[in-house]
Amino acid sequence: MAEEPKTSAATPQATAAVAQTRERPDAAEGRFAVEPPCAVVDRDFTIDDGVTRPVQILPYERQPGDPIYRPLRIFSLDPSASRLEGAEATVNVPYEPLDPGPVGRVFEVDDFDSTQQTHWGRVDLDRRVVLLSDGHDPSTSDPLFHQQMVYAVCSTVYAAFRRALGRHVTWGFAARGPDTPGAGRLRIRPHAFEDQNAYYDRTTGELCFGYFPAPKDVRGRTLPGGVVFTCLSHDIVAHEVTHALLDGLRAHFSEPTGEDVLGFHEGFADLVATFQHFSYREVVQAAIHRSQGKIEGASLLTGIAHQFGATLGSTKPLRTAFESAAQGEPKQYRAGMEAHELGEILVQAVFEAALTVFRRKTAQYVRLATDGTGRLPEGELPIALQNILGEQASKLASHFLAICIRAIDYCPPVDLDLGEYLRALITADYDLVPDDRWAYREALIDAFRHRRIYPPNVTSLSEESLRWQCPELSVKTILELNFAHLQFEGDPASPADAGELRRQAIALGAVLGCPQNLKQFGLARAGDPALGGDSVSLPRVQSIRSSRRIGPDGQIVFDLVAEVTQRRSVRAPEGMFDFFGGATVIIGPKGEVRYVIAKNILNEKRRDQQREFMRGAGQRYWKMHDGVITPVANAFKLLHKPVLPIPVEEPGS
Ligand SMILES: [Zn+2]
Repeated sequence: MAEEPKTSAATPQATAAVAQTRERPDAAEGRFAVEPPCAVVDRDFTIDDGVTRPVQILPYERQPGDPIYRPLRIFSLDPSASRLEGAEATVNVPYEPLDPGPVGRVFEVDDFDSTQQTHWGRVDLDRRVVLLSDGHDPSTSDPLFHQQMVYAVCSTVYAAFRRALGRHVTWGFAARGPDTPGAGRLRIRPHAFEDQNAYYDRTTGELCFGYFPAPKDVRGRTLPGGVVFTCLSHDIVAHEVTHALLDGLRAHFSEPTGEDVLGFHEGFADLVATFQHFSYREVVQAAIHRSQGKIEGASLLTGIAHQFGATLGSTKPLRTAFESAAQGEPKQYRAGMEAHELGEILVQAVFEAALTVFRRKTAQYVRLATDGTGRLPEGELPIALQNILGEQASKLASHFLAICIRAIDYCPPVDLDLGEYLRALITADYDLVPDDRWAYREALIDAFRHRRIYPPNVTSLSEESLRWQCPELSVKTILELNFAHLQFEGDPASPADAGELRRQAIALGAVLGCPQNLKQFGLARAGDPALGGDSVSLPRVQSIRSSRRIGPDGQIVFDLVAEVTQRRSVRAPEGMFDFFGGATVIIGPKGEVRYVIAKNILNEKRRDQQREFMRGAGQRYWKMHDGVITPVANAFKLLHKPVLPIPVEEPGS
C-alpha cells in the first residue's frame, strides 16, 4: 500500500490550483459544429415548476456587522451517550436572524404534537440571555432545547451541502401555498406524533420526528419506560434532513423504482450522519482516546443511532459504518437486498475508503511517534498524537462528505444503481481534483470492488473506464448557456431570477427536444415503434443549476447541471405504471456539453426490473387504483417502519 503521495516533485499550492484548472474546451475555437436548436417549449418539451425553485427560498446573506456564527448546544450523539464520550457539543451554525420557533430562511420549527393536540412552544434563540449562553442547556425534558437541537443539526447539514455543491440547495417539495410567506421552507416537527418512527414527508414538506416509551428491555443508559425522543438523536435528525436535501437534488430518487435507489437514499443519509460525527471535536477526541487511535474501533464515530438501537433490545447501534475484518469478507452486494442492508453496504464501502486514506495520511505521524516502527504501543497514546489523529480524521471526513455530496450532481436523474454512484464519485472528484496525490479514487474503487458493487456497462474497474465519458453528440455546444450569457445575482452560485432560470431551461430544451437529438439524452418521440405501443409524455427539463466548486488546492470549477426526464406509461397485464428515462447534462462555462449521463427510456431490461420489483420486494411501496399502479404517497414513512402492513386500497375507493 502506498504510504506516501505518488509524486515526489514539489507542487506549491498555487501551482496545484492553477494547474488543475480545467482545460479550455475545443468548442471555444469553433471546432465543433453548432446546430441551430429547433425544439419549441410546450410543443416539443416542457419545463417543470421546480426549475424556478432555486430563487424562491434563499438562505440569509450575511450583512456587515452580523456575527459569523450562532453557537448552539446539542447532543452530539444522543442522550444515552456519556459526557465523557463528548455527549454534548457546541456547534457553530451559520448566523441568520431568527423568529421564535426557530424560524429562519430555509427551515421553520413548528412543534405541534398531533397525538397530544398540543403545541410545545417556540424557542426564541435571539433572546439576549439565550444568545449569551449558546442556547438552552441540553435537556431531555425541555421542548425548547429539542427545537434548538433540530434547528442546529439541520442547519449544519445544510451548510455542508451548500459548501460541497457551491450553491444554495433547493427543496424538492412544492411550496405549501402560493402567497404564504416562507411557504417553501422545510418544516421541522420535533414532536410530531407518538410513534417509533421519524421521516421526511415530501407531500407536506415536513420532517416529522416521533417519540415513544422505551421498552422494558432497553439497553444502555435509557430508562425502561422513559420517553425516547427521535429528535434528540443527532443521527436520526441528520439522516432525515439528508433525505430532504437529496430529494431536492434528485426528485426521482424518491420514487420506489428499485432496491438500489431506495438503498441509496438510506445509505447516503447514513453516510452524512456518520461523517458529521467527525465534525464534533469533543466526540472525535473521546473516540481517538478510547480507541487508541484506531478510529475503526470507535463505535462513537462509526455507529449510527445508538439509542434507537438500544430500544430494539440491542447493545449495538442501529447500523454501523465499520464491519470488523475478523468477521471475514465484508458483506457483499447482491440483487434483491433490503434497502437498509444495501444502504449499510454503501456506507461501509465509503467508510473503508476513508479509512484507507486516513492510514496513508497519518502513517508518517505514527512512525514519528513510534521511533519508526509504525506500531502503536499498548495503553494511552501521547496527547500530541491524539490531537493530530483527531484533526486528520475530521479533515478527511469533511473531504469525503464533500466528495459524496458533489457526486449527486453526476448521478443520472432516475433509477440510480449503486455502481453508477461509484462512477459519479470518480468523475466528480476527477473533475475537481485531477491530481489525486493520496489516491482517494483508488481507495473508493477498491472498497466498492470488495463488496462486488460493480457499475453496469463498463469494461474494467480502472479509473479511466469508470469516469463518465462525453458521448458523441450531434450538438457539442449550447451557445445560449455560455457563462458569458448567463445572469447571476452577484455570484455564479446564485441565478438572477425565475425568468433567467426559465430562459436557461428553454435553451437546453430547444436542443435536446429536437427529434434527431432525443436518443442521445435517453428520450424517445411519441409513436416510436420501440415503445411497443406505450405512450410517452414530452421530455421535461426538471432542473438547471449552476455550481461553483472549490477544490482542496483552491482550484475553482464552474458548471451548469441540468436534469431532463420523460415519462413512459407502460401497459402491463397487471396494470399501467410509469417508467422514467432521461439524462443529467453537465455543461461547462463555454456552453460545451461535457457529460450526458443517460438512462434510456427504451431500455426493456430496466423496465422489466422495475416491474419485477413492484410485484415482489417493493410491493408495499406501490398501490393499485383503477388499473393504474402508482407509488404510495410517502415511501420514507414505510421505509423507516418495516413492520407496517402492505397498504391495500379497495377498488373504486
Ligand atoms: Zn431513511
